Amino acid sequence: MKQSVTQYLKSQFTDGLNVHAYIVQTEKAHIAPLLKQCACIALCPNHGDDGCNVCRKVELSEHQDCISLPTDKVKNRITVDDISYLVEESMKRPVDSGETRVFTIDASDSVNGVGAIPWQNKLLKTLEEPVGNTVIFIGVTNADSLLRTVVSRCRVLKEDRLSAEQVAKLLEQKGYLASKATLAAVLSGGDADNACKIIADAGWIQCAEKALDFLCDKVSTKTALRYVSAFTQNKDDMPKIMSALIMFLRESIAYRVAEQRVTLKGYEGQLQAISANYSVESAFHCIALIEQSYKRLQNNGNVVVEADNLVVNMLEVKYRCRV
Ligand SMILES: [Zn+2]
Repeated sequence: MKQSVTQYLKSQFTDGLNVHAYIVQTEKAHIAPLLKQCACIALCPNHGDDGCNVCRKVELSEHQDCISLPTDKVKNRITVDDISYLVEESMKRPVDSGETRVFTIDASDSVNGVGAIPWQNKLLKTLEEPVGNTVIFIGVTNADSLLRTVVSRCRVLKEDRLSAEQVAKLLEQKGYLASKATLAAVLSGGDADNACKIIADAGWIQCAEKALDFLCDKVSTKTALRYVSAFTQNKDDMPKIMSALIMFLRESIAYRVAEQRVTLKGYEGQLQAISANYSVESAFHCIALIEQSYKRLQNNGNVVVEADNLVVNMLEVKYRCRV
């Protein structure tokens, strides 16, 4: 298994092998929390991110030796003034605890457009000649978007794509219900940004619920009409419903052939119900049907016609290859 950024950093600091500047690459939604974790590891006496007094201060942004940039958190753009401030502060001795000063730079919105180059050029000198025990962490979504001169003076650490579980946890920390967080995380395919959009959109979750109802129901062609009307209630819903149908069918296949690959934790009951309705073979077949229908819809297909045909065709497949 690959080491995560934080595991790697912990061992670096514990063994005294740390350098003065790191670039950490991860998804946008994860940059801020990851930079905080990095700062904890650098400042914590145990290099632990272990919830000790020092770590708590860092978490609460109260640690005086942990300076987070940009100073303008609304625009979230690094300026030359920010870097001047960093240079000035890096000359100072640690004031809080320990022997280290840490600077975290969220550069995710500062690598493109006007002003993207000057701050990096200004930072170069500090990266070349670090003062005392300063550690700089630069957070980006793509390390290659930084100047090559900057990159060559830092150690680059890349976070693997988040697992659905990690994304769900991020959403739960934002106050969302665990069951919805899991659903959005799986639907997003582990893309935290996308998962945030999905969960904030009540329509998305409703679509997923409609899809789930249909798959779990012992529906026959006689009672299928109500699903067609539910699916076409809003004309923009169908693509979302289709994505959700595919996701649930895939999860139901995983549930039967490799349970450890199920990412939709807490939905075991529903996956069981889907498995009782659709054999593995028919689940695969239905996924293909949905994908074809999705393509037609994108080529200006009629929503009601597609929904109607899809429901009927899926039920046909379901009965043809019974479980
Ligand atoms: Zn600690």
